[in-house]
Amino acid sequence: MTSSWQSILRTNFTSVDELAAYLQLGEEDRAQLLAKSPFTLNVPERLAAKMAKGTLDDPLARQFFAHTLETKQGEGFLDDPNAESLYTLTGKMLKKYAGRALIVTTSACAMHCRYCFRQNYPYEKEKADFEEELSGLRSDTSLFEVILSGGDPLSLPDRRLMTLLEGIDAIPHIQLIRFHTRFPIGIPERIDDAFLDLFASINKQIVFVVHVNHARELDSDVLFSLKRIQKLGIPVLSQSVLLKDVNDTVEALEELMLKLSANGIIPYYLHQLDRVRGSQRFEVGDERAIALIGQIRERLPGYAVPQLVREIPGHLHKTPLLVPRTLRES
Ligand code: SF4
Repeated sequence: MTSSWQSILRTNFTSVDELAAYLQLGEEDRAQLLAKSPFTLNVPERLAAKMAKGTLDDPLARQFFAHTLETKQGEGFLDDPNAESLYTLTGKMLKKYAGRALIVTTSACAMHCRYCFRQNYPYEKEKADFEEELSGLRSDTSLFEVILSGGDPLSLPDRRLMTLLEGIDAIPHIQLIRFHTRFPIGIPERIDDAFLDLFASINKQIVFVVHVNHARELDSDVLFSLKRIQKLGIPVLSQSVLLKDVNDTVEALEELMLKLSANGIIPYYLHQLDRVRGSQRFEVGDERAIALIGQIRERLPGYAVPQLVREIPGHLHKTPLLVPRTLRES
């Protein structure tokens, strides 16, 4: 049976021409777009409806349209910027940090973000089940947390997700199950009654981390869907990527972090860009990033300020970029 969220997913824009026509883009803007890319266009109607018409100069449009600049090779921009191939345990499982394993549950997402560091990931598609991963989790008693990532774990149909969650739930040494998702930002209908029943049936503590980059991504339906998860006693945290001309101003970051906090969502990480091939147009320098987060710290309460971090392959944790301590001038 097809759920309503699966029907909505099928209405995503996948044609560059159709999205350009919907946004009434002129010839000059269209000339900047890549008609074809191995990482194809994929945008939910909800997000397209929020994009400004007649321009590419929009923080949402920028995240999803392939730009001709993507074909230029930026120095230090790689297919696998986080060297994830070094941390692979099984076809679908990675272990980068102590105590935690990450399952790349699927290659599918509700949307394709142009800066995604897994856009070239060699997704394992042979085995539909997670038996090898569950067996790996059972045998490594040093693990206390499993991170379900992707792609987007909410792309999995409920039945497959349930099998995976029940398998993890039955492993005594696993204490936490973390979701990394962007799905509700594009298709909040994914958080339906069946999904909430599934979450409610799990005994382990679930932690729900939603990827959101701009305040306009958070409309009332999106916030309502996340509130329904919170009402199950599941903490909802956010992670964002600092992106040039998307959210790299004090005003944009302040609005986003305040909106998240005011809706009970804890700003967790603000990531520096993972330098994936073709994404150089999104990069914000460390000095500017540190200055921005410093200004946010001066405007918002501490709990509303995410940690600014960078992932550096081989490091035992994400590396915080720290704001120098300053004294207010009198
Ligand atoms: S939703 Fe997440 S995994 Fe999917 S393309 Fe965007 S950043 Fe990548």
